Amino acid sequence: MFFVQTNANTHAKKGGSAMGDAYTVFTISNGEVVGGTEIGIFEKSFAIVIGKDDDNSFSVPASFSGAVPVEGISNEQSQLLFAEIKKTWKGEVKFLARHEATTDGKVIVVIRAKKGYKQFNWVTGACIGWQCRKCSATGTLPCAPKICPRCKAGDPWSSPVLRFANFPGEILARGRVVSANGWVGAGEQIIALVQKGGLFRIGCLYSTSSVDSAHYVCDGIHIAVVPQIQSG
Ligand SMILES: [Zn+2]
Repeated sequence: MFFVQTNANTHAKKGGSAMGDAYTVFTISNGEVVGGTEIGIFEKSFAIVIGKDDDNSFSVPASFSGAVPVEGISNEQSQLLFAEIKKTWKGEVKFLARHEATTDGKVIVVIRAKKGYKQFNWVTGACIGWQCRKCSATGTLPCAPKICPRCKAGDPWSSPVLRFANFPGEILARGRVVSANGWVGAGEQIIALVQKGGLFRIGCLYSTSSVDSAHYVCDGIHIAVVPQIQSG
């Protein structure tokens, strides 16, 4: 009696590749949320490109850039509105353009933050309290105290600052905007998949007040600006 090993399973897996979820795409720029994002060119291919060098004194601007390639678009298409997330043969993330979203659980967001709030802009999760940079005391007040109640640290380099949760989603690409125009400043730009309920912040990391920042929330279908919850 012979048992013949078949390749049935392998063949079955090679069958038509099922479509994955398609997500709505948003851009945040200058504090505003708009639908879609601009398609650019990166390494001679269509891509969503983030990060740039503001300042001519830097000679290698590309080192600040990040990009996610886009497939499935025509030469005339200037905006990516809906996309599926796929992997290239190298295992890197790419977008496949689609005509509509198929899920209300997550959205793709392109955050084109500029250097702005106190010259340094980073993207984080929501504010979760404060921490002293000298003694690591923490607290949950809506804003950081100017002087640490435990160790009395109160100078600009060690006084308590706000703490932030991790970004509420998967970061697909990172870039930077950098300027040395008189004052060195920097901003972080990211492309991310944000989950429903995800709350994130764009602002200065060493801030004592939420005034120096903007918060956004994802409801699974849109991204909305969160009005200032607290004041410093
Ligand atoms: Zn302290």
